[in-house]
Amino acid sequence: MRRAEDLEVRGRTVLVRADLNVPLDNGAIGDDGRIRASLPTIRDLLARGAAVIVCAHFGRPKGDDYAERAAGGPSLRPVAERLAELLGQPVTLAGDVAGESARVIAETMGAGEVALCENVRFEPAETSKDDEVRGELAARLAALADVYVGDGFGAMHRMHASVYDTPRLLPHAAGQLVLAEVAVLRQLTTSPARPYVVVLGGAKVSDKLAVIGNLVGKADRLLIAGGMAYTFLAAQGHRIGDSILQAEQLGQVTTVLADAAKAGVEVILPVDHVVADRFAADAQPEVVPGPDIPDGKTGLDIGPATSELFARKLSDAKTVFWNGPPGVFEWPAFAAGTRAVAGAISAVTGLTVVGGGDSAAAVRQLNLPPDAFSHISTGGGASLEYLEGRELPGLAALGDET
Ligand code: ADP
Ligand code: MG
Repeated sequence: MRRAEDLEVRGRTVLVRADLNVPLDNGAIGDDGRIRASLPTIRDLLARGAAVIVCAHFGRPKGDDYAERAAGGPSLRPVAERLAELLGQPVTLAGDVAGESARVIAETMGAGEVALCENVRFEPAETSKDDEVRGELAARLAALADVYVGDGFGAMHRMHASVYDTPRLLPHAAGQLVLAEVAVLRQLTTSPARPYVVVLGGAKVSDKLAVIGNLVGKADRLLIAGGMAYTFLAAQGHRIGDSILQAEQLGQVTTVLADAAKAGVEVILPVDHVVADRFAADAQPEVVPGPDIPDGKTGLDIGPATSELFARKLSDAKTVFWNGPPGVFEWPAFAAGTRAVAGAISAVTGLTVVGGGDSAAAVRQLNLPPDAFSHISTGGGASLEYLEGRELPGLAALGDET
């Protein structure tokens, strides 16, 4: 992949596809990690005399056409304001994505200036399955600039107009964030130092089954927790009470367990739980000291014995990939397992990678020092698909040869 840093950009207008999809809480930006992660590339281009026009998606606008979506929002305005604060210079927000407003701004902006197009998902064409429909939007985006830089790692697994089609229409290169993310993921997929331990949690087993299947051939140990663990426990014949179960996945889970056994991969499931009478922040937590969960109880976190077991299984690791919180960490009464696992991983000397939006949010919420992990990925779906061995459309469009 060509590096953005190697592009000659002086006096040129560069379209940067970034991932600025940060959580919004009552109109205020929560965790601005993704905006911060986008700064190095933007700053480098500005310092080298480019005009930078940034394109990004934000949330999930609803509506059949542009007008409805733009009216409903969310607008990138708060993001433009935060980006301006962090860059220490004004950021002009266009009134549209790639229409008259964006065109005039792009035409008149000078070297060292930054503008942001409105939420690219206001354009229904962005996510269209029809190549021609996406192509028309891609052409309008490409017309804004002389050069394209792909730096939105979190969107690289999407075959979207601004990610996949636009780079084909302009000289293109990968930004620093994308290059850093790919370098780390490549270490995980090619000869990782062993033992290689993978910790998976999160809500749904269906989100992660493909990556589990692929990692069975690569990792030495799989530690499975969070909501998905109950489907695994159920597949082994344990009782799981009212905990979330994806019954339709039981067959596949059984296959994965058999494949792991055949490959000599250790699969470690929770041996105790923190449960409650209901799935709520203010529910009373209660430790169940075995793998079985009684009827009427819902599992919300791994128990203390599981935390200890996981820590032991991580203690000699040389490579760790962690995706998905082991418990409902958003609620303090059920955050102990996530805290324990995060602590055990941060104690590992070796490559430790955290992937997934909620996992990254958990790490920040737990206030662990920023250097507690080797790498915190900005992309959940994108990093998982990379580890599944799938080709990411956005990387393919940038030319992922080297
Ligand atoms: P990531 O974004 O890091 O990939 P996921 O989106 O897969 O993670 O899962 C995150 C969610 O999983 C969190 O919101 C968390 O509350 C939820 N979760 C964790 N443990 C449980 C559980 N025992 N029951 C239900 N949900 C859970
Ligand atoms: Mg998530």
